[in-house]
Amino acid sequence: MTHSKDSQDAHDFDLFVIGGGSGGVRAARFAAQRGARVALAESARMGGTCVNLGCIPKKLYSYAAHYAQGFEEARGYGWQLPGTPALDWAALKAARAKEIARLNGIYEGLMSGAGVTRLQGHGSLIDAHTVQVRAADGSTRRHSARHILIATGSTPFKPEVPGAELALTSDDMFDLPSLPRRLVVAGGGYIGCEMASIFHGLGAQVTLLYRGEQILRGFDDEVRDFTAAQMRQHGVDIRVQTDIQRIEAVGEQRRVHLSDGSALQADAVLYATGRRPLVDGLNLDGVGVKQSKQGHIEVDGHYATNVPSIHALGDVVGRMALTPVALAEAMALVDHLFGPAPGQAARTLSYENIPTAVFTHPPIGTVGLTEEQARQRGGAIRVYRSDFKPLKHTLSGSAERTLVKLIVDEASDRVLGLHMVGEDAGEIVQGFAVALQCGATKAQFDATIGIHPTSAEEFVTLREAART
Ligand code: NDP
Repeated sequence: MTHSKDSQDAHDFDLFVIGGGSGGVRAARFAAQRGARVALAESARMGGTCVNLGCIPKKLYSYAAHYAQGFEEARGYGWQLPGTPALDWAALKAARAKEIARLNGIYEGLMSGAGVTRLQGHGSLIDAHTVQVRAADGSTRRHSARHILIATGSTPFKPEVPGAELALTSDDMFDLPSLPRRLVVAGGGYIGCEMASIFHGLGAQVTLLYRGEQILRGFDDEVRDFTAAQMRQHGVDIRVQTDIQRIEAVGEQRRVHLSDGSALQADAVLYATGRRPLVDGLNLDGVGVKQSKQGHIEVDGHYATNVPSIHALGDVVGRMALTPVALAEAMALVDHLFGPAPGQAARTLSYENIPTAVFTHPPIGTVGLTEEQARQRGGAIRVYRSDFKPLKHTLSGSAERTLVKLIVDEASDRVLGLHMVGEDAGEIVQGFAVALQCGATKAQFDATIGIHPTSAEEFVTLREAART
């Protein structure tokens, strides 16, 4: 489809995007750059979960939390700290809010700069080519579009437990009136583990409850065990095979009754038990857009729903709820609908070898297969691993250790999976992810010269397989 054909179209827009998060903004901006007439409706602040209530504020608070460790460790390096460092929670919140407001402005600027018509309000589907936008004052306006994109993201989910309304979700954590002294976190996934580490670092006494045998289901088992051990050693009280039965209010406090019959007293309870696609008020049923049992919008390989003019991507389709994935999906969709950039091939997205990090303390970085996935695939593998005290902690006094691990295919020598738990794991694994993307072999890792002294050099100096 070309731009000239679109322009002759009787519709108001070539593309109407509902949702101004990572995926929606990227699709709107690049479609407009290809010459499409684009509108984007968002009822809240621009940037979506990532900018406002997810990745960005989370990482800023993770940096804040790391200082606590840094102050302790600095003494091992001879620093005399005058008095005990104390966190000014209000100052941290204000600094975060200012930075997020700056990013909201940048996102608005990206829209206006690209010539996207920005509509403030809640979008809902009227038919296959019409979106209604309801503004905050209740007024509505209808817009027709050749293509519609739903990029409305996801929202935290709380299980139906008596008293769950007394618990918080990750949406509430960044603006709490005061820092909880005792925090109970339910859920052992990305958000539960990250929030447990962050609030522990900021000064709270944290208990993390997980219903299964080990936190971070889906990650490499050794990585899970190692991370849990490191978090415990830092002081997070992780309790597995434990669930919340009910929560009651005792004045301003919360009493959390657990499945083992015991109870915990806390200032706040956080449910980090997953996210659900945000489809409220979209009128998917009205226009017949199909959803999965979990409520995710079902799409084909080109992000088209069963209504061909309506597309969806990002958390609302739930393939991988990660910002960089939503960005890549948006680029693939734009290339498909409006053609690739001049001289370039249309982009597609492979869901293999997507690197990811969990910003626990210490963080996890991972790309490719876990040891368990590689074994399930069949075929012989070699596993290389090392856990060691990083040089920094020889003087810091911290007992924190680092784990590096490679899963190698015996037949082809290709590195199938690469995992790290340790400082800067996300930064380090991002680089190695390129190597996996290129199909690097263990021999090529071995032929790479290390950078000394770093933790990352361990990945190119693993000589003996730990097991096959
Ligand atoms: P996850 O799916 O990662 O984890 C949910 C956790 O809650 C799991 O431990 C799950 O247990 C548990 N759980 C689910 N339902 C219940 C229940 N009814 N009772 C008790 N426990 C329950 O979800 P998150 O909310 O942590 O994160 C959502 C997604 O957002 C992530 O999967 C990730 O894609 C993305 N994200 C990415 C980040 C990053 O890139 N660093 C950071 C934060 C989020 P079980 O394992 O037994 O199912």
